[in-house]
Amino acid sequence: MNVWRRLSAPRRALALAGAGVLVAGGLVTLPVTVAHAATRCDVTYSTNDWPGGFTANITIHNLGDPINGWTLGWTFPNSSQRVQQGWSAEFSQSGSQVTARNLSYNGSLATGASTSIGFNGAWSGSNPKPTSFTLNGVTCDGTTPPTTPPPTTPPPTDPPDGRVDNPYQGVRGYVNPEWKAKADAEPGGSRVSNNPTAVWLDRIAAIEGTPDSSSNGAMGLRDHLDEALRQGAGYIQFVIYNLPGRDCAALASNGELGPDELPRYKAEYIDPIAAIQGDPKYASLRIINIIEIDSLPNLVTNTSGQPGGTAMCDTVKANGAYVNGVGYALAKLGAIGNVYNYIDAAHHGWIGWDSNFGPTADMLKTAATASGSTVRNVHGFIVNTANYSALREPYVKVTDTVNGQTVRQSKWIDWNQYVDELSFAQAFRQKLVSVGFDAGIGMLIDTSRNGWGGSARPAGPGPTTSVDAYVNGGRIDRRIHAGNWCNQAGAGLGERPRANPEPGIDAYVWVKPPGESDGSSEYIPNDEGKGFDRMCDPTYGGNARNGNNPTGALPNAPISGAWFSAQFQELMRNAYPPL
Ligand code: BGC
Repeated sequence: MNVWRRLSAPRRALALAGAGVLVAGGLVTLPVTVAHAATRCDVTYSTNDWPGGFTANITIHNLGDPINGWTLGWTFPNSSQRVQQGWSAEFSQSGSQVTARNLSYNGSLATGASTSIGFNGAWSGSNPKPTSFTLNGVTCDGTTPPTTPPPTTPPPTDPPDGRVDNPYQGVRGYVNPEWKAKADAEPGGSRVSNNPTAVWLDRIAAIEGTPDSSSNGAMGLRDHLDEALRQGAGYIQFVIYNLPGRDCAALASNGELGPDELPRYKAEYIDPIAAIQGDPKYASLRIINIIEIDSLPNLVTNTSGQPGGTAMCDTVKANGAYVNGVGYALAKLGAIGNVYNYIDAAHHGWIGWDSNFGPTADMLKTAATASGSTVRNVHGFIVNTANYSALREPYVKVTDTVNGQTVRQSKWIDWNQYVDELSFAQAFRQKLVSVGFDAGIGMLIDTSRNGWGGSARPAGPGPTTSVDAYVNGGRIDRRIHAGNWCNQAGAGLGERPRANPEPGIDAYVWVKPPGESDGSSEYIPNDEGKGFDRMCDPTYGGNARNGNNPTGALPNAPISGAWFSAQFQELMRNAYPPL
């Protein structure tokens, strides 16, 4: 059993009184002198125990002045307790005293920011929680009053640059008539065809419209924006998806630009998009750009030397095509006052392991500050784009144990720290803030195809005969392996798009338009830059990235982006919530 423990968070009123601040009628008078930087903190320490061992997760919440470099200290109550292997900090132990020092990427903690660290440890006899923590030598118990008082009036919800905090809030989304027509042509499709889906600008020609392509259609960027005005829509979503050497770890969506064509990406793709999105005619629309699916996470996990790493990922990492391309797109598009950029941040089944989590956050920061961009150009991040990871796993918690064994050691979870997208998105948001993104960033979750309803959906937890039986019997996500990504059999439509569904989440969105294929199940010649990836072939036995498991892909699929009627029908049948 896992026990969460909140260590004496100082009460705000008390702290304010200590700082000699006058609070009257909601007005705050700030003290005139600031003596020294004040450290105030709150630490959450939870463990998952088994006989002789445990995993500890620790969240450090900075309630005081901004911190640059931290050391967390505590004393284990029991002399047998030992830190064995830690992550996200450098741990040392002398007797029962433990110190954990920040790593380069998580040393800065803005006021209000949190960071999470953890370790595997050993114990005998009992495994009590430490009762007190220090941060940079100061006890995290609220005894040090802040010299800079926390604000007592809520911060303005909208940033000063005129953008709203959450562009999805309170307005109607744009319904792409080209997708709607395809959905309406399917029996029963009109039940879902009025949902907003994203418009994918998946090649240079899509800016003007691609009447001959298998995906998208004759409407170009301006046509969609004009139609959005006509619909009276409040927001419209575009996917910016055309990096040089695109999709470096897969073949289904390689795209049109070679790895060295960054100049063309800038001049022929981003610049024209920025020129159109910046037209004052569209200033009343909240234009949401989803920036470059899969690209930056691939640089973290799929370069050579890693299981399944590719030469193309090496090339675009070495030549800076992705980092500089994303930085350029953010800077150009972020300069437009009514544009909201959300960068793609993979999904829990990709970067939920500690070895990928922090490094991906760092990589996103690197790109967000490349090519003259700053983090101010980033409104938030999206997870699960075009993927199938379940939003919630009601019957499998990562902290569950079965007969004393952590479920993290099951084949399905494979030591991941997360089992679903909601918990992952919320935790990754905090991580991104801790590496320097704005504290107001919001997350999007693509719920277009992660419903997993229908008759195969478990109604309760699995049997407790083993961790594998428990996890496999209870999990909502019915994939063969969480690394499977192409046209997954058994999937269903997920939550319908809506704003503000959960703390930290700006919206559930349908970025992948349901019914559009992820890739062909066998080679289909085409002139659209679409290769054949065997992860879309139901007869393939898999590769290192999916643990050499079958792909779980539907048969008879067309090339990526093309309409796949059988998949759309199955998505509706297995929708959850049901239609
Ligand atoms: C394809 C795009 C398509 C998008 C949305 C991607 O996999 O490469 O051409 O527009 O999916 O369906």
